[in-house]
Amino acid sequence: MGYWADDMVAALPPREEGQVLATGISPSGEIHLGNLREVMTADGVYRVLQEKALPARLVFIADNLDPLRRVYPFLDRDVYEPLVGRSLSGIVCPCTRHDSYGEHFLAPFLAALEDLGVATEVVRAHELYASGAMDEVIGQALAGRDTIAGILTELTGKQVAADWSPFDARCGSCLRLTHTSVTGFDLEAHTVAYRCDCGQEGTTPFAGGGKLTWRVDWPARWKALGVTMEPFGKDHASRGGSYDTGVRIAREVFACEPPHPIPYEWIALRGKGDMSSSKGNVLSIHGMLEVVPPQFLRYMVLRADPQRAIRFDPGLALLNLMDELENPANKNRNARAVELAQIPGRSMLGIPFRQLVTMAQIGDFDTERTVSVLRRVGVDASDLGLLQRYLEYVRCWLDRFAPEDVRFALAQELPQAANVLNETQRAFLAELARRLTDDIGGEELHSLIYDLIRELGGEKPAPCFAAIYLAFIGKERGPRAGHFLAALPADFVRTRLREAGGTT
Ligand SMILES: [Zn+2]
Ligand SMILES: [Zn+2]
Repeated sequence: MGYWADDMVAALPPREEGQVLATGISPSGEIHLGNLREVMTADGVYRVLQEKALPARLVFIADNLDPLRRVYPFLDRDVYEPLVGRSLSGIVCPCTRHDSYGEHFLAPFLAALEDLGVATEVVRAHELYASGAMDEVIGQALAGRDTIAGILTELTGKQVAADWSPFDARCGSCLRLTHTSVTGFDLEAHTVAYRCDCGQEGTTPFAGGGKLTWRVDWPARWKALGVTMEPFGKDHASRGGSYDTGVRIAREVFACEPPHPIPYEWIALRGKGDMSSSKGNVLSIHGMLEVVPPQFLRYMVLRADPQRAIRFDPGLALLNLMDELENPANKNRNARAVELAQIPGRSMLGIPFRQLVTMAQIGDFDTERTVSVLRRVGVDASDLGLLQRYLEYVRCWLDRFAPEDVRFALAQELPQAANVLNETQRAFLAELARRLTDDIGGEELHSLIYDLIRELGGEKPAPCFAAIYLAFIGKERGPRAGHFLAALPADFVRTRLREAGGTT
C-alpha cells in the first residue's frame, strides 16, 4: 500500500484517449472548506496522471441549472420566495453585483481554486445544456423513460409516479423547473411538451429548455463529457444511492461505462461534527486562505486517504500540520502528499510556522523587525514579500483560532504586572541578567535558565518562568522562554531583567 492516489492510478486500466476526471457542485450557498475535498481529491489524482505524462482532463461542473430549493436562512424572503423553483443561473444574486445567484457563490470558489493551484476546466451546466451537447442523452433518457423508472424502483425500493419524466422542463411563464410535467416529446425536433401547475402549457427545446433530473443527469454527463473517474461524497455511494442507479442507467440507457468511483468521507471540524452549511459549522475557503498558505489546504486534504474522515482542528493542532508540511525532518509528514501539495511557481517560506508565531509577535508583525528577530535566532528570511504574507497568516491565525496563552505582545516598558514578583523571583531575574552572554542561542539559554533554577535551590521552575513572562509580556505564561529571550537584543533583555530584578 503506497500513497492512495499513486495506488489508484497504478490500478487503472490503460486508456489511450486519456482520463477525464469530473467534479461538481451546486452553487446554492457558500462553497465551504468541507466542499473542497471533492475537487482536491480529483486534483491529487490528476497531478499523479500528469507526472506520469498520461493524458488527462480535470473538469469542474457547476450545477447552476439546479433550481433554488427553498428560501435559505441567509436569503431575503421577499426577494427569493417567488424565485424558488427557478434555476440558480437565472435568478438575481444576493449582493446584486454578480450575473446570477449561481455566480455569486461560484466566483469566490473559482478564485480560491486558482489560489490553490487547481487548474480545472469549468463547465457551467446552463451553458453545457444550451450548447446542445446534452441533446443526444436527453433524447435517450426520454425514450428510455420506462427502463429508467424500472431501475429506480428496483434499486431504491420506491415507486416512480406515473407522470414522472427524467426531464424537468422549464415553464415558459413562471420559469420554474419544479412544477411542470412532461406530456410528450419529439426526438426529431428535440422538443418537450409540458404542462405547468401555473396553468401554462407549451413546448420547450432540449437545449436550454430544462434539465435532466439529478439521478439521470449524472450518468448523462458521464456520457456527454466522457467522464472516466469521479470523486463523490459517501452519501451518493450508499446502496441504492445515485452512483448505484447511475451505473445501471449509464449501461442500459446511455450505452456507456460508468466512471471509476472515488467515494470520499467528509471533513469534520473538531468538536463540531461534519462540516455542512445546514449545521452552520463551516469554515470558508477564502477565509482559511487568509490564515494558512494554499499549500496547507492542499496538504490537509491530500494527506488522508479519501475513505478516511478528516478531523480538522484550526487551533493548536494546525501548527502540527504546518510542521509536517514545511519541516522536512518531521517524521509524521506524508512525503507524497507534501509533494502534491506544492503549487508550481509558489514557494513556501521554509520557516517553522510555530517558530514564526513567536517571532512575528516579538517583531510586532513588522517585516523588517521580524527579519532582525529571525536573524538573531539564526534564521535567514530572504523572500521579504513571502515573509510579509506569512506574517499576515500568523496574525489572522492568532486572531481567529489560537488559544489565549499563545498570544502575547512584547512590553516596551516593564509591565505593571511585574510588581507582584517576590524576592526569589527578582533574585532569579537579576542573576539571569548577570550570566547572559551576547550571542547565546535558544537551547543554551534554556539550559542556563534551568541551571540557575537548580542553583537557587528548592525553587520550582514555574515561578521562575512566570517571572520571565511577567517581566517581558505581563502574563504568567508565554512562548518557550529560551528561544523567546534569544530572539530579543541581548542589551534589551539584560536591561529588562535588571529592572524587574530590582538591580538598576
Ligand atoms: Zn452577488
Ligand atoms: Zn409555470
